[in-house]
Amino acid sequence: MRSSEHIGVVGAGIVGLALARRLLLQRPGIRVTVLEKEDRVAAHQTGHNSGVVHAGLYYKPGSLKATLCRRGVGLLRDYCAEYGLPYDEVGKVVVALDTEEEARLDDIERRAEENGVPGVTRLGPEALRDLEPHAAGVAALHSPTTAITDFVAVAEQLADDVRRSGGRVLLNTPVLDLRQEDDGVRVLTGEPRGERHVHRFDRLVACAGLQSDQLARMAGAGPDPRVVPFRGHYHELVPERRHLVRGLIYPVPDPQYPFLGVHLTRHVHGEVMAGPNAVLATAREGYRFRDLERGEFAQTLAWPGFWRLARRHWGTGVRESLVSVSRTAFARQARRLLPEITGADLRPAQAGVRAQALGRDGSLVDDFRVDAHGRVVCVRNAPSPAATSALAIAEYLADTHVPPR
Ligand SMILES: Cc1cc2nc3c(=O)[nH]c(=O)nc-3n(C[C@H](O)[C@H](O)[C@H](O)COP(=O)(O)OP(=O)(O)OC[C@H]3O[C@@H](n4cnc5c(N)ncnc54)[C@H](O)[C@@H]3O)c2cc1C
Repeated sequence: MRSSEHIGVVGAGIVGLALARRLLLQRPGIRVTVLEKEDRVAAHQTGHNSGVVHAGLYYKPGSLKATLCRRGVGLLRDYCAEYGLPYDEVGKVVVALDTEEEARLDDIERRAEENGVPGVTRLGPEALRDLEPHAAGVAALHSPTTAITDFVAVAEQLADDVRRSGGRVLLNTPVLDLRQEDDGVRVLTGEPRGERHVHRFDRLVACAGLQSDQLARMAGAGPDPRVVPFRGHYHELVPERRHLVRGLIYPVPDPQYPFLGVHLTRHVHGEVMAGPNAVLATAREGYRFRDLERGEFAQTLAWPGFWRLARRHWGTGVRESLVSVSRTAFARQARRLLPEITGADLRPAQAGVRAQALGRDGSLVDDFRVDAHGRVVCVRNAPSPAATSALAIAEYLADTHVPPR
């Protein structure tokens, strides 16, 4: 059946673009418009990440992260093959540095099996050295299908697909406000030349990353959970030391902590990165240490959940902040995985800011989270592995939250 609906999507990151493409491919006659405040697609998280296609090792079996990551990997691999985009199964080792970490590998191995991750094997120190000759570790898990890609190239291709299928991607078009009415949603946007414009949609889906709680508030939802931004800095290995890393070398993650810890990743264009660490960002889109948005930072400090989280993790917070400002401290962290690295082998590279949803009670929202408010659907938490999972998140959103009418 042909659809005459007009669906608006806020955000031209990988999630919004994948959804727009999915709707256009699936529903003949539908109109889809993507509204993006920046002058390009993939300007925020999608364009500032590690470029890793996660295989699904860590995620709680049955969670959206676990199921959509596994499905997303297959869809992304096929998509990259179809369009000739980079996709390289360089493989990943999760390295245990002592017997206590080795015991935690058991849990990850069990989860990987339950999640159906193919080919995961346990390595002793010699087998680890065969794969990654310069890595430290008493044991490791090897995931041979963990891959790397270029998520910006993927997002640009998705945007091309949207346009070729008759959809629109409007850049320099920030959503300033929205109003739900009986027959649709009215969306006020700023326009490239400074004027204002009102768009009317039948339904709206907000895939706004670091601003996802703001969009939810505009839709009439409550403030819980709030996005707290965590910046991660990367350092690049100087070219003559890139040979120290063949694929992807990760530490065993701390189960109390939402991020994976500084890892070493080979990128599709040959660079090798160390990072990211995780420090509280004083601006949601602040990529430098000195970036401060007073209003946004005040909002973070005013959120009760932030102080509950800070009390639990203040020691880690201080340590991670030090790693951000000191190359020596950064090298010390990377050296745990790769003992030959020195400060002279590293030079500062990009940073990324993660949108982490945090509950009022201080709990970190672990899984992907989508809420509906009238005619507006809000993606409220889409942290890693959402880039890996984007094509599957798009299927899930389209089928479950924006079903055909
Ligand atoms: C440091 C770091 C490392 C990561 N590593 C990996 C990894 O290796 N593998 C992986 O799978 N995932 C990784 N992730 C996570 C992944 O990048 C994100 O989960 C994913 O990119 C989320 O995509 P998105 O489209 O939801 O958000 P985004 O890419 O942030 O896009 C949201 C878009 O919404 C736009 N927007 C916001 N507000 C408005 C408004 N009012 N009006 C109009 N437009 C608006 C923004 O400008 C932005 O373009 C990492 C993330 C970070 C930060």
